[in-house]
Amino acid sequence: MRGVVSLKEDGPAGSVRQKTPGERLNVLISGAGIAGCTLAYWLCHSGHSVTVIERSRGLRSSGSPVDVRGPAVDVTGRMNVLAELQDVRIRLRGMTFVDAAGGKVARVDIESLRSSMVPKDIEVARADLVRILHAASANDADYVFGDSIRTLSQDDVGVDVTFEKSPPRRFDLVVGADGLHSIVRRLAFGPDSAFLAHAGLYAATVPLVPSAVSDDEMFLLNVPGKMVALHPRASTPLAYFVFWHPEIPEFDYTNLDQHKLILEKNFTGLGWRVPEFLAAVRAACDLYFDSVARVRVPDWGRGRIVLLGDAASCVSLFGDGSTLAIAGAYELSKALEESPSDPGAAFTRYQAAHGKRVAAKQKALGLMAARLVPKTSTGIWLSTRIFWKAVAGVAAGVRLGRKLRAK
Ligand SMILES: Cc1cc2nc3c(=O)[nH]c(=O)nc-3n(C[C@H](O)[C@H](O)[C@H](O)COP(=O)(O)OP(=O)(O)OC[C@H]3O[C@@H](n4cnc5c(N)ncnc54)[C@H](O)[C@@H]3O)c2cc1C
Repeated sequence: MRGVVSLKEDGPAGSVRQKTPGERLNVLISGAGIAGCTLAYWLCHSGHSVTVIERSRGLRSSGSPVDVRGPAVDVTGRMNVLAELQDVRIRLRGMTFVDAAGGKVARVDIESLRSSMVPKDIEVARADLVRILHAASANDADYVFGDSIRTLSQDDVGVDVTFEKSPPRRFDLVVGADGLHSIVRRLAFGPDSAFLAHAGLYAATVPLVPSAVSDDEMFLLNVPGKMVALHPRASTPLAYFVFWHPEIPEFDYTNLDQHKLILEKNFTGLGWRVPEFLAAVRAACDLYFDSVARVRVPDWGRGRIVLLGDAASCVSLFGDGSTLAIAGAYELSKALEESPSDPGAAFTRYQAAHGKRVAAKQKALGLMAARLVPKTSTGIWLSTRIFWKAVAGVAAGVRLGRKLRAK
């Protein structure tokens, strides 16, 4: 990590010519999150020159546990960071549903579900994942913290970029890996309103002071339309608030005071340990609070600018955002490796391959949301007493099938 540094001038604007295959590209990535750090690694690995610009003054540390699944396990394996991820993995044993008085309603054996259904998946704190992905490319890519793109202007052979703080510079390609509220998308593709759709829910997380909670059990309280959860995480427990709510017109994802008021208004009086969680909200200097949203951009590439991760195709919260960010970054780097001199063709191949994964997850978003945050008492009963029992039954069947095959 090079801290807050200025970008260097990179030769006179307009002097860039077409690259020939195998030639080194000069790429700017906006956002040092999961997608940005993974792409930085793979582009550096292919010999390209990479600058990553991150608005925060350091790697962001808030956020919930996330899953590294399927294709993302393969990609992180090829990056040689799997062992590190295993070291910091969260080992959740179970998920206990409670009622407003704190009484146990039902329990799901997460450990056995995972080992039979998805044995290779790894759950880690988002901050640990970003730290490890960043470290993998920190010596090769130029990371610039505390700055943001101000303007983008592209022609056939490059993109002129101005920044909030650093001097202007020209790049061969610009990648928007800057999340749900991407500045690259806004500048090069259009306003958020054209691509971002509220999925009907809001979600927030707040870290709690370490306490005597069980360190391997998650607790959930469902009331119609709302869910509050306590996740143990590795060291700092985290409270989750998720609730169905029509789009709040004046909602500002950067306004901490507003977030505190909204949470207070929607979660006061819910019982269990919610008062304690709301006290943590009131005392918090940093919360994660955002609308659960779908991002749909018809074409992820426009000339020499391309979108990645949540910026291109957010499925938010329930939809494997981190797995898709990692898998998409690898797909984009592979496509650019095949045709560095023809980014348009590379972007089309990247979207054709990765878009299929995203579409499946976006379709499942509504279903997942309804299951985790049922809107009615009947829905809660079905989810806790029937759905999870059925899943456990399937898992037991899978385990039995494996045993029989092994004989
Ligand atoms: C701090 C934080 C906490 C999160 N917590 C949760 C959570 O609790 N639950 C959940 O489901 N999802 C959470 N997410 C989102 C989740 O991690 C992503 O959906 C997913 O991992 C996709 O990764 P991504 O790299 O595309 O986007 P992100 O992980 O969102 O990364 C985007 C990066 O771009 C940076 N950025 C944003 N704007 C600019 C700009 N103008 N210029 C430069 N950089 C910019 C951000 O600071 C961030 O580092 C969180 C994201 C962040 C940034």
